[in-house]
Amino acid sequence: MKNTKKITTVKKKAWTEFSKYIRTRDTKPQWPEGRIGTCVTCKRPYEFKKLQAGHFIPGRMNSVLFNESIVFAQCYHCNVGLKSNPREYDKFMRTKYTEKEIQSFDKLPYIIKKYIYQDYIDIAQEYKKKTQALLDKENDLS
Ligand SMILES: [Zn+2]
Repeated sequence: MKNTKKITTVKKKAWTEFSKYIRTRDTKPQWPEGRIGTCVTCKRPYEFKKLQAGHFIPGRMNSVLFNESIVFAQCYHCNVGLKSNPREYDKFMRTKYTEKEIQSFDKLPYIIKKYIYQDYIDIAQEYKKKTQALLDKENDLS
């Protein structure tokens, strides 16, 4: 029982870092507001903290949850209220990926991916690094 609790904690931490990375990738610093990004489905601008990392493919199985190719910044209304706003999400994905790539994403929910405790720690560390790399790159450009 104690172990189950622990894996939930590291999984949550992995998600927090992954979500931060997605929202950093999909926003740009704008003075003085801070980071601003466009919701991928309603195209409205939002502050970093008002954006969520929204999935193109529903379900939170591991093959889908931490897949950065199918996760983009979305507002709360589109992600939660409109349950990811699938029709608009589909249109966006088709501007970014080929039909063949979309078809491969559709198969993701059927792939069983088992993560152990250490995998979540690794994911958290990997995405923390990737977020920092994005921020470092921005600082080099300015
Ligand atoms: Zn939206």
